[in-house]
Amino acid sequence: MPDTRRAEIVVDLDAIADNVTALKARARRPLMAIVKADGYGHGLVPSALAAVRGGADMLGVTVIEEALALRRAGIAVPILAWLTGTGENLTEALTDEVSLSAASIWMLDEIADASQACGRVAQVHLKVDTGLSRGGAHLSEWPDLVAAAAAAQDVGHLQVAGIWTHFAYADTPGHPTIAAQLTDFDAAVRIAARDGLGDVPKHVANSAATLTLPDAYYDMVRPGIAVYGLDPMGGDPAAYGLRPAMTVQAAVTLVKRVPAGSGVSYGHEYTTAQPSTLALIPVGYADGIPRNATNVGPVWLAGARRTIAGRVCMDQFVIDVGDDPVRAGEVAVLWGPGTAGEPTAQDWATALDTIHYELVSRVGGRMVRRYLSSVPAELAAAGMPA
Ligand SMILES: *Cc1c(COP(=O)(O)O)cnc(C)c1O
Repeated sequence: MPDTRRAEIVVDLDAIADNVTALKARARRPLMAIVKADGYGHGLVPSALAAVRGGADMLGVTVIEEALALRRAGIAVPILAWLTGTGENLTEALTDEVSLSAASIWMLDEIADASQACGRVAQVHLKVDTGLSRGGAHLSEWPDLVAAAAAAQDVGHLQVAGIWTHFAYADTPGHPTIAAQLTDFDAAVRIAARDGLGDVPKHVANSAATLTLPDAYYDMVRPGIAVYGLDPMGGDPAAYGLRPAMTVQAAVTLVKRVPAGSGVSYGHEYTTAQPSTLALIPVGYADGIPRNATNVGPVWLAGARRTIAGRVCMDQFVIDVGDDPVRAGEVAVLWGPGTAGEPTAQDWATALDTIHYELVSRVGGRMVRRYLSSVPAELAAAGMPA
């Protein structure tokens, strides 16, 4: 089997395991590894297995379907699914021992109903909004939510298993909202303590806080992007002992020589300045390569870093290698760990004015994922021949 298929996403599961180990050593407390959105594009089940191998005590996902998929794969560690709406099948989640988040009294009621329906005591993490204004109960609603949760716990409908919040600005260390959110979180914790929920585990720290803000560690940290080896502040992840787990690469499908002044790709947004060799790369925006990588996306090819020439199309784009030799079948690396000259996902994020989170979680389409792991069982779970 050739080492590289037409276009592939190579995921280094040992990197994920090692990153979790490094993050846990840094925080010196339990760690919930976030594997939402198909493991940030790295594959839900293989990423989760590697995270657990690295020491993850718990897994975090957004939707219940993700949690159920982890259970179907035989993963037994505690799982929190926090983005649940009304009318969802909560009994399935409770039967599979998936912990749920609540930020409203109606959600608590639905959880209590489901708990009674299936005879399982729901594990519930109460979420307080301390300033992101996204998920979580507003502080003005928090006392009522806490009182309702304590009452439901007293009658055995649920157990409050966590109190938590999420930062708006953790990737900007020192931003004034960070201290303000912690102050509000501590106030929320004191309110919960008044209702007998003082000993409940508390968790706040995403990757940025896990890397920069020990004051936010509380009883557990909750990193996502750093598990995959990327630095949410946009710096070098090696500074924290992390290494990127994802490499995106594709084999050149066509090479040709064109004269100076040749317009390249739709709309001729690029024109060759001199007689040039063009290489065709068979991935495009349908595979999650953003169209606004046009004329800016960096790619490693034929021993040097190049820039995409002209528009990214649905299925392909072009690289101008000038007079350098390049063969069909040669591998172009879009992003990887950055240790062999290739661009990183952060380099792409900088060039495209986005964040690496978006790039890694959206790349895919027809690309094939290939996993690397020192643990054969992880490769088997990923459907790869060991
Ligand atoms: C995604 C997410 C995380 C992880 O964030 P990272 O920046 O990837 O570490 C933690 N908590 C919540 C609520 C999230 O939505």
